[in-house]
Amino acid sequence: MSMKVAVIGGGWYGCHISSSMIGLGFEVKLFEKNDRILDEASGNNQFRLHLGFHYPRHAGTRIQSRDGFSRFLERYSDLSRKISENIYAVPKYTSLIDFETYKLIMTATGIPYHTVDRCPLDLQEIEGLIRVDERILMIEKARNYFSHHLGPSLSLSDPVTTLIDRETHIEVNGEKFDYVVDATWGHLLRADFDVFYEPTVLLYFEASPNLPAITFVDGPLYSIYPTEEPKIYTLSSVPHTPLGRYYSAEEARTARDRVDTATIRAKLKVMTEQAQENVRNFPDLYKFIGPQISIKTKLSGSSDDRSCYVGRRGRLFTVLSGKIDTIFHATERILSDIEADSDTKPIDVPSSLLSRIQRKSIAIGLE
Ligand SMILES: Cc1cc2nc3c(=O)[nH]c(=O)nc-3n(C[C@H](O)[C@H](O)[C@H](O)COP(=O)(O)OP(=O)(O)OC[C@H]3O[C@@H](n4cnc5c(N)ncnc54)[C@H](O)[C@@H]3O)c2cc1C
Repeated sequence: MSMKVAVIGGGWYGCHISSSMIGLGFEVKLFEKNDRILDEASGNNQFRLHLGFHYPRHAGTRIQSRDGFSRFLERYSDLSRKISENIYAVPKYTSLIDFETYKLIMTATGIPYHTVDRCPLDLQEIEGLIRVDERILMIEKARNYFSHHLGPSLSLSDPVTTLIDRETHIEVNGEKFDYVVDATWGHLLRADFDVFYEPTVLLYFEASPNLPAITFVDGPLYSIYPTEEPKIYTLSSVPHTPLGRYYSAEEARTARDRVDTATIRAKLKVMTEQAQENVRNFPDLYKFIGPQISIKTKLSGSSDDRSCYVGRRGRLFTVLSGKIDTIFHATERILSDIEADSDTKPIDVPSSLLSRIQRKSIAIGLE
């Protein structure tokens, strides 16, 4: 009999983990509370397939991005696309590091780039520019891909409301499983890590499809990134995108749902002003079309750590992602733990070996 796994949450993590496990012969049920997958943070972000250029101050994150990027292309070649001009710019006065140090860090990490003299945008106060190969994630394509691949394993509009860890199995909404993966980004159970929740606002703009992606680094800066729609860009700002810091997911969701037009107008003003510090004719080129509201779950303490962590309590795994490129890291951590439980292979685990798993007959409190 194959091993039965419940995956909770149909974001990038839940979809990828489920599809990998199905491929290995596990019997998987993916519970998603909404009526479609990739509907929360995974469908509301800047859609950047990172390579590591965002993280000069965190080596672990750069390395996970560098490796995750190539693995993503190998596995999901059709779910991202190239950007013809993708520029990272180090401003003269507002960056936390200078251009030469920035380039040295990227070279040492083994992430390829080209130094360039010019950018198709009219920029000012810039110390240096590089051209990179980061890509855009194609969310609509990814929804279709996973919906098709997950097939009957996917249970939409099916929120998990009870989770009970018994002696020999774990119950999700009354159904028995061998293992459970909480891939809700800390929205079902509080993660095993010290986290906080940050509602966010990005702004959507319409502009010519030929404009470059431009990211200003490093520190409290901003970026303008294309989306899978040819003329649509997002503007994201390190100081202005966050809408507060909350210690429970529920409080963060309440704050997100209360965002009003006055808040969006204020964000549009400050984010436009910030973009004009370096992009001279920003208001002539980009026409505001609306906000994107989402929630980030972040590790407390290390503000630049976007590595992926996996926690475990008995039969329950919790995934804390920072970015989408680390889906492979999460899956492998879970699979290697399950494999270690069986001491042989990830399916058909003998019951004598299962007794080694730490068991707790406690009901896990849900938010
Ligand atoms: C503004 C912003 C910009 C970002 N930009 C980027 C970027 O450019 N590149 C990048 O790589 N990353 C980016 N990220 C981070 C990225 O979005 C996340 O790391 C990733 O989407 C998290 O995926 P996930 O599957 O863990 O969580 P989610 O996508 O949030 O998925 C969790 C799922 O769990 C479901 N769920 C919750 N509770 C329950 C329940 N009780 N029962 C059943 N289902 C439940 C939710 O409905 C949801 O579908 C950004 C994030 C934000 C907010």
